[in-house]
Amino acid sequence: MLQTKGYAAMTAKAALTSFSFERREVGRHDILITITHCGICHSDIHQTRDEWGGSIFPMVPGHEIVGTVARVGAEVKTFKPGDRAGVGCFVDSCRTCDACKEGLEQYCDKGMLLTYSGRDEDGRITQGGYSTQIVVDTQYALRIPQALSAAGAAPLLCAGITTYSPLRHWGVGKYHRLAVVGLGGLGHMAVKIARALGTEVTVLSTSEKKRQDAGRLGANHFEITSQPGTFTKLQRHFDFIIDTVSAPHDYNALVNLLKTDGTLILVGAPEKPAPLVRHRRHPGNPGNARLLRRTQDRVRRRGDSDPAGERGLRARPQGRRAVSLRDRPGLAAIATWQLKAAEAAFDELRGEFLAAAESFFKIGRRHRAHPMRGVRGWKTEAEV
Ligand SMILES: [Zn+2]
Ligand SMILES: [Zn+2]
Repeated sequence: MLQTKGYAAMTAKAALTSFSFERREVGRHDILITITHCGICHSDIHQTRDEWGGSIFPMVPGHEIVGTVARVGAEVKTFKPGDRAGVGCFVDSCRTCDACKEGLEQYCDKGMLLTYSGRDEDGRITQGGYSTQIVVDTQYALRIPQALSAAGAAPLLCAGITTYSPLRHWGVGKYHRLAVVGLGGLGHMAVKIARALGTEVTVLSTSEKKRQDAGRLGANHFEITSQPGTFTKLQRHFDFIIDTVSAPHDYNALVNLLKTDGTLILVGAPEKPAPLVRHRRHPGNPGNARLLRRTQDRVRRRGDSDPAGERGLRARPQGRRAVSLRDRPGLAAIATWQLKAAEAAFDELRGEFLAAAESFFKIGRRHRAHPMRGVRGWKTEAEV
């Protein structure tokens, strides 16, 4: 067993504390990754507070893991010691069902094994990236090109793929108008990726303070949702809306901003199930699609197509999947903390979320009090 140090919530809502635990030995198909960076995802906060239910404690959170391969199993051909590697939201699945065979392991019939707060076959609790090292099967590890900064790459493994996947799935591109609701960890990634795809992007926010951030990230337009006129002005305006807000709010108000047969993409995960969206033919929800292969595809292409990292964040519109997401201009807007300050980072982000929840946007008489998700809560990194 491999003795590992990390930071864990010992019970729901408890502050993160120093914690020692064991990782499994490196198996034939496994690699051992020395973790250098791990993104702080909003779901880490939800999970450590057991806000979605089903959390398993003690819990070392973290599923945007980047590090260096320290050791490889006997059968491993795709990684060697010294390579950069990453781990996203899940670390195993049944591998035999239709979903797994199609490379859609997140829809595994038997359920994917979460990177943390899951139980693997031998009953061991999986533990995440707020730790010094992780052992993972290479099927569930990602190659991270040297040209990418580790801190910039980490948020791609959850927030990045969560926004990239539905934008690609629905074919959002050059001739579309997209609204991004909420400018937090997910929202800011959505803006950057959509702009790289050539899409006209409008950020919908509660707060005038976000206007500058939206512009800096590349958004074409910015509209304040707390002004009732906004919803009249933008009626039937968008081909797509990607809603990244994880607090309960009314989706129907947003549906009115869509053109006929426009698509509302929901990637936020409120604590309670969302009410049915009405007045459209195909209410659909791609949810938190996290396609491991798409992440890998993207990460690999970033490395292959622009090894020197000189072209910056850009898209080649003809190439269906050839989106070069360089971190030269900074793919993710990041702040970094030492791992030992993870609890302080949580507090800071929670503060942002609470402050944001206090601002409400009103849409007519029926729709009141919609707490919006923290907007300044950038995707952040915990440095080990
Ligand atoms: Zn996440
Ligand atoms: Zn499966």
